[in-house]
Amino acid sequence: MLSVVVPLAAALFLVFDDVSHHQSVRREATRIERAANQTKPLLNAQSGLSADMRAAAVVSSVSGLGLDLSGIVAALGLDLSTELGPARAILDEALIEISAAEREYWADPAAVDAFVTASEDRTRYHDLIDDMVLTTADLDRMRVELQTPLATATQAQISSLGVLALDVPRAGLLDDLAANAAAADAYLTAIHSQSASLVAYLVGFGLEDPAEAFAASYQASEVAWQRLAAGLDTTTLQRFEALRAEPDWVEFDALSEAIIAGELSSGPLEPTIRSIELGVTVSSFAADMTDQVIAQLGEEAALVSTEAAAQERRALVIGFVIAVVTLGSVGGAVTMIVRPLRHLEARAHQISAGDLEPTITARPLLREAAVIDEAMDDMVRSLSVIERQAEALSAGRLDASSLQESAPGRLGESLRQSVDQLSELTSRLDHQARHDILTGLPNRAAAMEAIDAALARRRSRGGQLGLLFVDLDEFKRINDDHGHAAGDAVLVETAARLVAQSRGRDVVARLGGDEFIALIDDVDDIDDAVEAAGRMARAMAEPMSVGGASITSTVSVGVALSDSSVITGEQLLHRADLAVYQAKALGRSRVEVFDDDLGEADDERRLLEHELREALAGAGLELWYQPIVDLPNHRVWGFEALLRWRTEDGGLRMPDQFIPLAEQSNLIVAVDDWVLSSAYETLGAWQADVETKDLHLAVNISSRNLTGGQLATGIRDGAPAGLDLSRLGLELTETGLLDDVDAAAATVHELQQLGIGVAIDDFGTGHSSVARLRGVPVNRLKVDRSYIAATEDASDRSILSTLASLAAALELEAVAEGVETAAQARLLASFGYTHAQGYHYARPMPLAEVGPWLAANDRADSRAG
Ligand code: C2E
Ligand code: CA
Ligand code: CA
Repeated sequence: MLSVVVPLAAALFLVFDDVSHHQSVRREATRIERAANQTKPLLNAQSGLSADMRAAAVVSSVSGLGLDLSGIVAALGLDLSTELGPARAILDEALIEISAAEREYWADPAAVDAFVTASEDRTRYHDLIDDMVLTTADLDRMRVELQTPLATATQAQISSLGVLALDVPRAGLLDDLAANAAAADAYLTAIHSQSASLVAYLVGFGLEDPAEAFAASYQASEVAWQRLAAGLDTTTLQRFEALRAEPDWVEFDALSEAIIAGELSSGPLEPTIRSIELGVTVSSFAADMTDQVIAQLGEEAALVSTEAAAQERRALVIGFVIAVVTLGSVGGAVTMIVRPLRHLEARAHQISAGDLEPTITARPLLREAAVIDEAMDDMVRSLSVIERQAEALSAGRLDASSLQESAPGRLGESLRQSVDQLSELTSRLDHQARHDILTGLPNRAAAMEAIDAALARRRSRGGQLGLLFVDLDEFKRINDDHGHAAGDAVLVETAARLVAQSRGRDVVARLGGDEFIALIDDVDDIDDAVEAAGRMARAMAEPMSVGGASITSTVSVGVALSDSSVITGEQLLHRADLAVYQAKALGRSRVEVFDDDLGEADDERRLLEHELREALAGAGLELWYQPIVDLPNHRVWGFEALLRWRTEDGGLRMPDQFIPLAEQSNLIVAVDDWVLSSAYETLGAWQADVETKDLHLAVNISSRNLTGGQLATGIRDGAPAGLDLSRLGLELTETGLLDDVDAAAATVHELQQLGIGVAIDDFGTGHSSVARLRGVPVNRLKVDRSYIAATEDASDRSILSTLASLAAALELEAVAEGVETAAQARLLASFGYTHAQGYHYARPMPLAEVGPWLAANDRADSRAG
């Protein structure tokens, strides 16, 4: 390709170089032509001036003779206006042309300016002529003033031509003239002065010796001619000689010789028209001669110009052809290489920008480019596959059809591997997200979906759905007694047994903890569901062997049946939940069916919960105070704060009516907070009074607050500064304390650090063993009032006694509650109980009654006896 383009480009360059040379030649020739044309006005000015002078001479000679001018003029047959008019017109025109000419062509523009300025004075002479008062002196001055600048201008012009001629080597004539510029100028000037002398001689301007002056100018012009002729080459000389052979010139020559020979007298004596006209001929000869030369020059220049133009055209044509060929070649190159490269570049950009949409363009013709282009097609196809796959992957659509396509290369391979791994991981995660790890059963989320789906199915196909809520009884005890591993094993076995008792469509799921559900699809009535529940409960009642031990765990089952009022799975589950709650409340290990009463109870609970919230927010709660006395001296040790709820109608709700509910709904946290801050207030007031400053105040705290880890810090930060916390006591239920022994022990320890005494409330109703009690180092045991009430029975009395001994052995205070009689009080004191509380001393009372009660019951117990 380059082998074609480079020579063509070189040729093109040479052609253009040639063209520019021809162009410059032509430009110079044009300049000469123009210069020559501008010379003509100057020469015209000369001849105009001569005519002017002739007229002036006529006028002058006539007036010099003192003749009547108009008569003479008429006699001579002259019409002055016609005589002077054209002359003036020629002169005027020439001057205008000269001044308008581009003076840049003149070697000495200053000389031209001088001539133009001098010529402008001619109007003065015109005026004189018009007035016919032109004197000889005027004419003389005019001659001097005009002739000198004219000669200078002429010479300047010829020099200019010579200078110009140097620029145009082809113009041989110009060369010649330029070489002889000075001689030519001298000759022309000489002729000019000869013609002026002739006129002067003929009209007899006051010259002292006109003949001699004329002879001098005649010889000077001859000498100038000889000198010029010697320098000119033959061609130019022939041209000049041709001019000198013209009849006018010959006559002028003859006239001149006649004057010199004295055959023609000077002055006004013989002013023949003819002689005057001859003078004019002479003066115009110089002009003619120059004119001829200029014309020649012009022709020559035109010739040069034409030739240059022709050459230029030829060069241009060649250049054009070369250019066309070159451009064609370059164009070919563009088509063959650049365009395919552009195409490939654009595609590469497109691909790197991630645009894999195929752009439909023609395949490049260049073979290599076409190969690359096809490779790019493959690449784009592969990338699109990979892109689609990546898209599917990031969208998690592992089943997308694009993932079945095979993408090439290592990227494709690793993508395929990722897909496989991801599919596996996803299905595993999916399974995990929907299944319980321990038992492998569907989890709560999956169970809810299954219930909803089954509900939808029953709704469209008819039939009912039974939902069993299965809750292990006392699972906590299994965990505590046999360890968590055993607990897990029990859960796994439970799952297996429930599944074993289920049928095809049924779904067994674990909701969490020890709660399971069994979805019994398509039952005819509640009996079917209850029957299934019974089957499962019986299967569960069989002992299971776990780690060598035999464990029996019963279940409570709540049964709910889908009916028209059940809209969502959550609703159905809630009903089964209420039923199992009822089963637990009724003593566990039984099947309970949801009914409207349960639903109503539930509704009531919800209402109660709502009201409790409002009571908490408002001023609906109060603390009542029941005294606790020391045994055996019956002095007032302090009080237990007991919660009361004052309803809007003024009634009083007892804690049993709302504390269990509060514990179910988490409201208990807010309730306990409220109780504590009220207790601080009361204790603070007591501690401010010397009479009451040593009183203790025992507060009941829900076991829900015990294991949260916040109880001690909550009291430390919440209690007012300066409050003596050693007078504060907390009563915690046994079951709460033993739920999580370690957490409870930590909390109890923290509380004791604050000086707070901790009591186990309702002691004897839970399942605490002595061993575990040791793990939670409380301050006192508050024996449940059921034991105190049973003092009639001898064996119960011994239990009461044993509990006091136990407390003593553990170095704990023993508190008896529910003491209603003096006999009970005496008995308890005899068993070693350290404190007593009950109606025997006082019923719980509002805060306002505490002061009066204390005042009425001196420290010495009046009832003790
Ligand atoms: P508890 O802690 O065992 O409270 C003692 C209960 O026995 C009180 O019932 C009290 O009025 C009652 N009582 C006291 N002496 C006698 C008696 O001689 N004979 C009989 N039959 N009963 C007596 P109350 O006030 O109805 O409280 C019931 C339960 O509510 C409390 O049992 C306690 O577990 C809970 N409770 C009360 N106040 C609060 C509280 O502020 N916070 C929390 N979390 N629970 C509270
Ligand atoms: Ca209590
Ligand atoms: Ca109690």
